[in-house]
Amino acid sequence: MTASPFVVLKDVAKRWNGQLGVEGISLEIPEGSFTALLGPSGCGKSTTLRLLAGLELPDEGQIFIDGKDVTTSAASDRNLSMVFQSYALFPHLSVAENVVFGLKVRRVPKKERQEKLHRALEITGLLGYENRKPGELSGGQRQRVALARAIVAGQRLCLMDEPLSNLDAKLRNSVRKDIKKLQRDLGITVVYVTHDQTEAMSMADTVVLMKDGHIQQVGTPENLYNSPNNTFVAEFVGAPP
Ligand code: ADP
Ligand code: MG
Repeated sequence: MTASPFVVLKDVAKRWNGQLGVEGISLEIPEGSFTALLGPSGCGKSTTLRLLAGLELPDEGQIFIDGKDVTTSAASDRNLSMVFQSYALFPHLSVAENVVFGLKVRRVPKKERQEKLHRALEITGLLGYENRKPGELSGGQRQRVALARAIVAGQRLCLMDEPLSNLDAKLRNSVRKDIKKLQRDLGITVVYVTHDQTEAMSMADTVVLMKDGHIQQVGTPENLYNSPNNTFVAEFVGAPP
């Protein structure tokens, strides 16, 4: 028996005044998996993620999360968290205040907030940094604060858009491992946007390679590398000709 997929996109399309964002996007994403949306700049990765998040509404197609048709649901009703390239932290708030901001908005009681904060800081290695301001942290630490904020939200689905691209190469490597460990330990479903094939191939169970608003191939990193659908896929993943 196979479990029904946690996230489903059915023939989703998005255009702006005739300008193509994405078209014919169909995906089935199992719960607890790590899916990378990979491809060159402008291929439609962020558009796909924003459609999933409810930050854009599709012109065609349907989107289901956890069995529920969310095609036209508000972003706030989709039970997911997001981590962006820019950390989107409040500069005037401390680490702790940044992490629990969403919980406060949702009026989660103080004791519960503190427990969740402690656990999220523990997981992200930020215990002891509660009172620092974002400006007093390194880029890697700031991205960990953004991860901690996603963790306290307690959602089973987390969408990440190029979360490492503002970090230098060394940090990128260590935060990459942090994200992977988090996803495994918490058993959450991650949909991860990147233009970096090494990142996608090393982190993801499933890679979705896109070009010009269309999916070129969906498969494991090994599938794409060993059996590319076309020369674009082969060249993008660096497979031998
Ligand atoms: P990626 O994240 O892969 O770099 P995007 O999803 O941001 O690509 O963009 C895909 C295409 O959609 C691009 O041609 C981009 O110019 C276009 N696009 C994205 N957002 C908008 C928008 N708000 N208005 C008009 N065109 C957009
Ligand atoms: Mg993008």
